[in-house]
Amino acid sequence: MTAKLIDTHAHLNFSPFINDPLPFLDRAQKAGVAAIIVPGVDIPSSEKAINLAENHPIVFAAVGIHPEESKTYMPQMRTVLESLCTHEKCVAIGEIGMDFYREYASEEIQSRAFYDQVELAKSLHLPMIIHNRKADSYIIRILKEVHYFQGQCHCFTSHKTFAQECLEYGLLLSFTGLITFAEEIRNVALTLPPEKLMIETDSPFMAPVPYRGKTNEPAYVLKVAEAYANLFNLPFDEVANTTTRNALSLFSKLTLHE
Ligand SMILES: [Zn+2]
Repeated sequence: MTAKLIDTHAHLNFSPFINDPLPFLDRAQKAGVAAIIVPGVDIPSSEKAINLAENHPIVFAAVGIHPEESKTYMPQMRTVLESLCTHEKCVAIGEIGMDFYREYASEEIQSRAFYDQVELAKSLHLPMIIHNRKADSYIIRILKEVHYFQGQCHCFTSHKTFAQECLEYGLLLSFTGLITFAEEIRNVALTLPPEKLMIETDSPFMAPVPYRGKTNEPAYVLKVAEAYANLFNLPFDEVANTTTRNALSLFSKLTLHE
């Protein structure tokens, strides 16, 4: 009996999963995945995430406007997100954040959408799933302004000093399949305490070794957990138990089914 894993970030609300998620969910369960968090990137994909959660016991939703969609953000969306959050399987606000790698929108536009949604998360006492590419100082500045740090830095790709700063503020970090091959990310992960870390696939992106170049899927979170165990030289079950416990403590609305 393998220990239970949680894929804390998988876009089952995207193609190729959305039309028929069952084979992917089936493979995930066979790989020991007991829960999957599906984040939204805009209102329609957030609604799809809730819908998937309603129809599949191991799926949970997060709702939010991604920095890529920050240009479309309007304050009225906050009311829509707030009503989606009342769903018992909506476990977080996400994914939200800032991205200056792809320059989706100006700093001002991205800040406005992020700030507003951090405030929303704070008012609802929900954790955040934070997307950050080349925006370390901007993210921290807004979290400090709102004074809310209950969240996960998803797909962590920043350096070790920033990782420490996040931990000092009480944020938790999550690693993708990048830790199966990207040396600089592996080196950052190694400096961090396992009780602050989670795992995710970021499906359909970021496929781990040996599936690089292919469509990623939640079952492959097993490969992320194995890479993590090898890296830290820890037994697989300990990695599974610790990362699962960390996810359950941050995402307090998430429950595991037998
Ligand atoms: Zn994502």
